[in-house]
Amino acid sequence: MSQNSARAAGRHFLQIPGPTPVPDRVLRAMDTPMIDHRGPEFAKLARRCLDGVKTIFKTTNPVVIYTATGTGAWEAAFVNTLCAGDKVLMVETGQFAVLWKKMAERLGLVPEFIATDWRGGVEPAVVEARLKDDKKHAIKAVCVLHNETSNGALSPIAEIRKAIDRAAHPALLLVDTISSLGSTDYRHDEWGVDVSVGGAQKGLMLPPGMSFNAISDKALAAMKTSTLPKSFFAWDDMLAMNKAGFFPYTPATQMLQGLAVSIDMLHEEGLDNVFARHARLAEATRHAVRAWGLDIMCRDPKYQSPTITAVMMPEGHDGEAFRNLALATFNISLGTSFGAYAGKYFRIGHLGDVNDGHMIGALALIEMALALARVPHKRGGVQAAMDCLVSAHAQPVRAAAE
Ligand SMILES: *Cc1c(COP(=O)(O)O)cnc(C)c1O
Repeated sequence: MSQNSARAAGRHFLQIPGPTPVPDRVLRAMDTPMIDHRGPEFAKLARRCLDGVKTIFKTTNPVVIYTATGTGAWEAAFVNTLCAGDKVLMVETGQFAVLWKKMAERLGLVPEFIATDWRGGVEPAVVEARLKDDKKHAIKAVCVLHNETSNGALSPIAEIRKAIDRAAHPALLLVDTISSLGSTDYRHDEWGVDVSVGGAQKGLMLPPGMSFNAISDKALAAMKTSTLPKSFFAWDDMLAMNKAGFFPYTPATQMLQGLAVSIDMLHEEGLDNVFARHARLAEATRHAVRAWGLDIMCRDPKYQSPTITAVMMPEGHDGEAFRNLALATFNISLGTSFGAYAGKYFRIGHLGDVNDGHMIGALALIEMALALARVPHKRGGVQAAMDCLVSAHAQPVRAAAE
């Protein structure tokens, strides 16, 4: 908000990678009187959500819906499948990988953490080599993030699955898809993922407070022998009650009202069109960053994220000061930086209910903020992004046939 006024006019640019802007239609769907969560109207709503969310994960197996943020669904993935002392293989793609690994330790798991410099994704060959060395199959799960939100690196889950298969290793594959689900292609069944962890407030365009576990048959079998303590997050209670359209405890009914509509909206646009839109906005953002002469944190183009771009600050310029100035002057929220890179970059979210106009507006505000903050850069980033969008729209529309 402007520093001279108690009210900022117009729209706030919430350009962080979650929570993302909630569409008016979802907000209106949530603005309803309470209903009985043991009654027939609720059962209908629950059915819509439980069936609908499977189409987003691309699974025919059950998806469990938690009243918890993504962190809760992380915990659920561990406690329902593993035992104390189990070894898990994780990759330090960035801050969110660090947090998930810390959780593994707290729960009594023994993570082996493959280090990276936070500027790329998970290399399937590295996972394969490590699993091939694990002749005794001590590793019980491979846990990776599809999209590392702290730096904008997307990892190839289908390739990681193949790497596990090439190593002929029985480890479960647990995947965090919190900041990729509903924004880029994700296939729980086809990619052979055992537990997919999703969240509400990113690509699903909902407020925070809901999260998901999509569960394979192999994960369901692992549940039977898993001994980590679980109560609130226990799958078996949930699955049993969900069959009849109910929950073991009071679910977040208003979040479910919103979820039913956000799923409808994704299908009305068409998932492939949603993914193409995210790819286009990500590409336009990268064109702007390159035109500014700034570095994209994720170095290798093959890993660059469709939902968030992290921008390195030039030497001697603080990313946090830049974010503060952008917010105070232009009413735009940009994502913060983490870990050893704290202050060295800022993040631009381009996911959820965003379109070309939002992104060009956001990139223009960022370009003005760079000038105001005297961050060394070249002008013309917005023009480069516009050119990129025009050429993207000039190409034949492939998705139209689908
Ligand atoms: C946002 C996010 C989380 C954490 O989710 P919360 O809803 O904040 O608990 C975990 N992993 C990834 C990849 C995320 O983007």
